[in-house]
Amino acid sequence: MKILGESSKKDDELLKPRVLPLIPLRDIVIFPFTTTPLFVGRSFSLQAIEESLNNDNIAFFVTQTKNKLEHPSSSDLYSVGTISEIVHVIKISDGKLKVLVEGLKRGKVEKFVNKESIYKAVVQPLDASYEMNKDLEALRRVVVDGFSEYVKLNPTIIPDHVLPILNIEEIGRLTDSLIATMKLETKAKQELLSIYQPDLRLKKFVSVLQKEIELLKISRKIDNEVRNRLELNQKKYFLNEKLRAIHKELKETDEYAGDLGALKKVLKHMKLTKEAKEKVKVEMKRLESIPPMSQEYGVLKTYLEWIRDLPWGKSTQDNKNIKKAKKVLDDSHAGLSKVKKRILEFIAVRQLTKKGKSQILCFVGPPGVGKTSLAKAIAESLNRKFVRVSLGGVRDEAEIRGHRRTYVGALPGRIIQSMKKAKSANPVFLLDEIDKMSTDFRGDPSSALLEVLDPEQNNSFSDHYLELPFDLSKVLFITTANSLRPIPPPLRDRMDIVTLSGYTELEKLEIAKRFLVPKQLEENGLQSKLLQFTDQALLNIIQNYTREAGVREFERKIAAICRQVALRVVEKKGKINIKINPKNIEEFLEKPIFKYGSKEDSPEVGVVTGLAWTEAGGDVLSIEVTVVEGSGKLILTGKLGEVMQESAQTAFSYARSKIKEFGLQPLFYKKSDVHIHVPEGAVPKEGPSAGITIATALISALTKIPVKNDLAMTGEITLRGKVLPIGGVKEKVLSAHRADIHNVILPYENKKNYDDIPESVRKNMKITFVKEMKEVLDLALVKKLHPRKQRKKTGRK
Ligand code: ADP
Repeated sequence: MKILGESSKKDDELLKPRVLPLIPLRDIVIFPFTTTPLFVGRSFSLQAIEESLNNDNIAFFVTQTKNKLEHPSSSDLYSVGTISEIVHVIKISDGKLKVLVEGLKRGKVEKFVNKESIYKAVVQPLDASYEMNKDLEALRRVVVDGFSEYVKLNPTIIPDHVLPILNIEEIGRLTDSLIATMKLETKAKQELLSIYQPDLRLKKFVSVLQKEIELLKISRKIDNEVRNRLELNQKKYFLNEKLRAIHKELKETDEYAGDLGALKKVLKHMKLTKEAKEKVKVEMKRLESIPPMSQEYGVLKTYLEWIRDLPWGKSTQDNKNIKKAKKVLDDSHAGLSKVKKRILEFIAVRQLTKKGKSQILCFVGPPGVGKTSLAKAIAESLNRKFVRVSLGGVRDEAEIRGHRRTYVGALPGRIIQSMKKAKSANPVFLLDEIDKMSTDFRGDPSSALLEVLDPEQNNSFSDHYLELPFDLSKVLFITTANSLRPIPPPLRDRMDIVTLSGYTELEKLEIAKRFLVPKQLEENGLQSKLLQFTDQALLNIIQNYTREAGVREFERKIAAICRQVALRVVEKKGKINIKINPKNIEEFLEKPIFKYGSKEDSPEVGVVTGLAWTEAGGDVLSIEVTVVEGSGKLILTGKLGEVMQESAQTAFSYARSKIKEFGLQPLFYKKSDVHIHVPEGAVPKEGPSAGITIATALISALTKIPVKNDLAMTGEITLRGKVLPIGGVKEKVLSAHRADIHNVILPYENKKNYDDIPESVRKNMKITFVKEMKEVLDLALVKKLHPRKQRKKTGRK
């Protein structure tokens, strides 16, 4: 393309409208002051060219609005085109022509000469004058600078060809010449062509030029990025290839391929869920594309192995024989008839409801009473796998649900880990010590557990690591707790509570004889004739060496004896026959460590034996009260909890209200200090059940009447002296029995718990149920109380 000098045609020739042959253009816009080569092939165009050549070589070139149209009509043409001179024509094959055209002036079709054909039209030249001013000059410079930049950014333009254009002073010609060199869309070019006023055209051109420069900058930036990435990829590819070559050298390639191949095969044949299948597909593809030595490879492979190791849809067959289930329970556990019955009912219901959406069992009781071993026995009786998770001390939700894979060293939570261990989708799953879980800033594990235990939700339990829903609905969850109180109520609601309170000494003896001793003999490789225990020896261990509601410590002591005998057997090479009895027991166990709270040796003033429930079962404790001269202070010691302090205050106020009736020291609440102490000060005590005990001790101290020593009591007291029911009756009565106490006072409303107390204990005890404090005092004090008036006559204060 060359820059034209002054047009060779006189301007006035181009000022009048005239009839001109018309050539429609496809995808090309011809501008004045430029030459453009064209190929002409369509018959009507060839005809128009011929006509022009027969005349003065002038023709009108105008662009089609629709590029693809072969036979455009008048409405398919833009209205503004360029009046041009045909400067050169070469015939090429098929009668087509190559034409060189020189743009002269803009023109507009006024009308077509013939309505049916478009190849001849009356064309009106377009012209406009303008005045050069500073603004336009400034714009011109912007264009000059901008275009220079454009050339720099655009590698398809050869600077030497276009930069001379920038010397053109006249802005109309300058813009037209520049536009013609640029690669713009036809529509944009046509728009610039149709602006025939040079000043307006210059303004429009500035914005078009700037936009183009921006686009070029962006595309150059993208180019650079792509190039960099390509380089990086090439580098990676090269390194990977090198690595592979090294592996090959080391003959490891096969190993990797084999390793992955096996994993892939196993996963392919597993009964995965739809989601899991999808996930495996995606992750496997990723895994295959990363080098085996990279860290990511290991992480991803471990993840897929986790999926492989989970029991997707793999269940064991349940034993449906309830008799066999009963036998398993009876063979593994002595006593516990109520609990066993409850378990068999539970199994029966699960069998009948099929779906298994029955309640979750929660065994509540002190340590060592057989909660865990019962759960194991249930698994055995149902023929299911058994897994156990201890929730004691779990305070982080992630322990239940796992960490997201983005964490370094992330693993699934304990639920999914145990499911892997279980190897079946329907194990008996023991959640141990559910009451020992706590909450802190790391999230609330109990809410995650709620999801685990909710039959509506647990068919799609979500673990953070796994990122896939896992079906836990077939799992039989059993939980254990020492106490119900710390369990959040929503969790407690989900569970069916089965209470296992402590064993009596006789029950423990029975358990030892039937289970613990044979078990320990076997575990220590001893035959039964080598070592025997007398009942007295076993009772001695129970009473003096252990202090527990269950039998765990007891079992440990038996184990300790067995180990020592095993040593002697090995040392003396076999010939041994030992019978453990109360006399030789200290040879094997050290001096007795425990002494239970015991009854007082004789009736005393201000001392009453109370009964308490502890996590280890029950215990007796003496409550002491002294009244000394003072100023009406109530002193409480022995680490009493808030509720217990309130009971003490209630007992105090009760006593105050009964001064006359019981003949108590008048004004004791003003002139004396009352000190209430519950021994073993280091052990925290809580609960309202010491109410009547404190009141009795206080009234004894105030009246100086001693309290019977073969008596223990428990019950809450109200201000009016009513006795309210308490919990843990069985454990408390057992502890009284252990302390050789034969009389127990219990609240009347606890009569319903009478049956819980083992028959063997009941036989030896006198249990009195009371409604009023007065009844307690009548039973407990060695002498009757007398109203104050009578006491005055005897001369006492
Ligand atoms: P927990 O889970 O309640 O703390 P475990 O189930 O661990 O108690 O029991 C401790 C030990 O006592 C186990 O060896 C268990 O077999 C034994 N045991 C507890 N109760 C009985 C029972 N009634 N009959 C036989 N063995 C028992």
